Amino acid sequence: ATPTSIMVATGRAAELGVLFRKGDALQSLRGVRTVALDKTGTLTEGRPSLTDLVTAEGFDEAEVLSLLASAEARSEHPIAQAVVRAAEERGLGLAPAEAFSADPGFGVSAVIAGRRVEVGADRLMQRLGVAVAPFAEEAARLADEGRTPLYVAVDGRLAAIVAVADTVKPSTPAALAALHALGLSVVMITGDNRRTAEAVARRLGIDAVEAEVLPGGKVEVVERLKRAGPVAFVGDGINDAPALAAADVGIAIGTGTDVAIESADVVLMSGALTGVATALALSRATMRNIT
Ligand code: ADP
Ligand code: MG
Repeated sequence: ATPTSIMVATGRAAELGVLFRKGDALQSLRGVRTVALDKTGTLTEGRPSLTDLVTAEGFDEAEVLSLLASAEARSEHPIAQAVVRAAEERGLGLAPAEAFSADPGFGVSAVIAGRRVEVGADRLMQRLGVAVAPFAEEAARLADEGRTPLYVAVDGRLAAIVAVADTVKPSTPAALAALHALGLSVVMITGDNRRTAEAVARRLGIDAVEAEVLPGGKVEVVERLKRAGPVAFVGDGINDAPALAAADVGIAIGTGTDVAIESADVVLMSGALTGVATALALSRATMRNIT
């Protein structure tokens, strides 16, 4: 490709809402065989809401939700925002949290009105020695619907199972179909529950799932995928930045965090993923003649 044809292609891409931050990305994209995508905020809207709350024997629903939201009020995770919103919508008051701590990939813990409240994934409960078995069936049902089950422990006792669910972006199915039409393999990478991630992936026709990946682990997954050929990674979050940099081509969602955008080679100006296939198709058309 001549410098002129590259300029024409990147100009055409910009018109279509795909911004090339690095000139050589058009070239690197041509060889890409696998597109790995972050789930929350990339395939989905990234604004989950609380959908379910089932309390254990002896626990009151409103009381548990209030304790849970009081603990989550200190966290910035989208899950925390969903919980706080749900409590506010029900007119529940929040109490101040003491001794708050957040453990990325696990959950949060705080002392609310003298009671120790812990909220998070099953692996958090495992670490605390709180058995989640009483909610095994409920958890499986929720996960199979694509919802994320979370557990609440109060003073070391299992108090409730709650679920949050996020909406798939309207543009996602068409974007994935376009990638498949270009012969690419599509992989989803997420910190979310395995069963939840698999349900979402099945619904979207995604080829492979890497779930329960700890923050910081996405880069290892990208490195592993790269052994089979060039990889593009698409993400929006702060914790996606290392994977965006590690991929052969990093593609950030323009509505995502600044850190992600700065680590990317390509930026999709809208929140839609359709631009990934647009960029790939333009790259192939432009680079076809250089070899
Ligand atoms: P993702 O970006 O895919 O949501 P994270 O690493 O942020 O991945 O979170 C992984 C899992 O850790 C969540 O699905 C949840 O189970 C648990 N978790 C993280 N933060 C919180 C929180 N503030 N409250 C409850 N659970 C949390
Ligand atoms: Mg994300």
